[in-house]
Amino acid sequence: MSDCLFCKIRDGLIPAKFVYQDEACLAFEDINPQAPTHVLFIPRKHIATVNDVTAEDEATVGHLFVAAAKLAKQRGHDSNGYRVVMNTHRDAGQTVFHIHLHLLAGRPLLWPPG
Ligand code: AMP
Repeated sequence: MSDCLFCKIRDGLIPAKFVYQDEACLAFEDINPQAPTHVLFIPRKHIATVNDVTAEDEATVGHLFVAAAKLAKQRGHDSNGYRVVMNTHRDAGQTVFHIHLHLLAGRPLLWPPG
């Protein structure tokens, strides 16, 4: 069995507050939210890091952005703005090695992020 936390969430072995699901991706509330909206969009396919994305994953990864933009709009964040970000490895602070697009919104977000 995969030891990946987000594969376990995908498979229903660990609970999560799902806010969106389709054939290619899932989205759930971050357990430690850093903004009023903090949702993680993951592909159903296990891909460890952005380094591991291949040409055959282009549609899947693009789909995460489409889903995130749709939820941002549903929650009314499209006019004030939001951030989508994918951390890769240590210097970016990646802690879960199944790619995930963070959607952060609902407060002014600092840049650069630190
Ligand atoms: P990253 O640091 O970019 O790898 O992001 C991992 C994110 O997963 C963090 O924002 C965590 O708060 C979040 N996280 C960790 N465990 C869970 C969980 N069981 N359910 C939801 N989010 C989680």
